[in-house]
Amino acid sequence: MPKKCEHLNKEIFNCLMKSINTILLDCDGVLYRGNCMVPGVDAVLNKLKSMGKRLFYVTNNSSKTRIQFSKKLASFGFPVCENNVISSSYSTAMYLRSKLNLNKDHVFCIGSDNLVTELKQACLKVVTPEIPEGVGGVEKALNYKLHPDVACVLIANDENLTYLKVAEGMRYLLSKDHECIFVATNSDSSYPVGVDILLPGAGSCVKMLETAVGRNVDVTCGKPNVTMLKAVQDEFEIESDKTLMVGDRLDTDIEFASHCSLRSLLVLTGCANSGDVTRIQNGDVPDTSVPNYYTESLADLAKYLV
Ligand code: PLP
Ligand code: CA
Repeated sequence: MPKKCEHLNKEIFNCLMKSINTILLDCDGVLYRGNCMVPGVDAVLNKLKSMGKRLFYVTNNSSKTRIQFSKKLASFGFPVCENNVISSSYSTAMYLRSKLNLNKDHVFCIGSDNLVTELKQACLKVVTPEIPEGVGGVEKALNYKLHPDVACVLIANDENLTYLKVAEGMRYLLSKDHECIFVATNSDSSYPVGVDILLPGAGSCVKMLETAVGRNVDVTCGKPNVTMLKAVQDEFEIESDKTLMVGDRLDTDIEFASHCSLRSLLVLTGCANSGDVTRIQNGDVPDTSVPNYYTESLADLAKYLV
């Protein structure tokens, strides 16, 4: 029997509210799109919080630190503190802390400056790409002196990704003197920046380096990987049978809920649309990408919360 996905209604919602104490919220596409809040979401989140539900903000975006995210979320009037924000950069930092020798190992990081800040705040040693752009770049890549203590190559979304940054990462991954773990923050192929506008996401950067070295990343730390939940569990007790994941992407958010045995609610204010709901209902998507429930917007919850 294929997994069923039901449209949210008052009865389902009331049952759900009785059985959950925690809600994990994907950010972009659920709470806001770029810099615009999804209308009505602020009232819903504040009401849920006043009912005693714990809220966590779980984003694959690695371009901000947790503090920057919490400021953005607070600017919309959402109830938030830094500890309740779990980004793919934070989850990556926690994962690498558990895997590397903090006294010696260095991370070669292709990604945003804020990702580097997050890694350094977790006491990780970071090396960033060095080869200057311009004439003779390939020569420079060949003569580039590798840092002897790099034990991890990390790749994330990088708005300034260049051929030479990939060449540097490749040198580490193919070097016989370096046994590097190969890690990605997240694998989103693209992300929406406005209605109907997409930009390449971290997954597109990851694929370039994977193709170059003929090897897939060893681990991806963002959704749908359970590493993202472990980052929350380091600080908070999460009971999977009492937790709901709300998301807008089948291959990250809903898969994540499935991997972590959480119930899931799909909203249609971001990546997924009514065509995806039809595909789900026709049994055309894998069971792990089928949400338990769907509704058009998280703001719909307002009508059940009165
Ligand atoms: N990656 C990048 C670079 C982004 O900017 C975004 C959203 O803005 C995402 C991923 C997806 O984030 P979320 O998991 O909050 O939808
Ligand atoms: Ca999203």
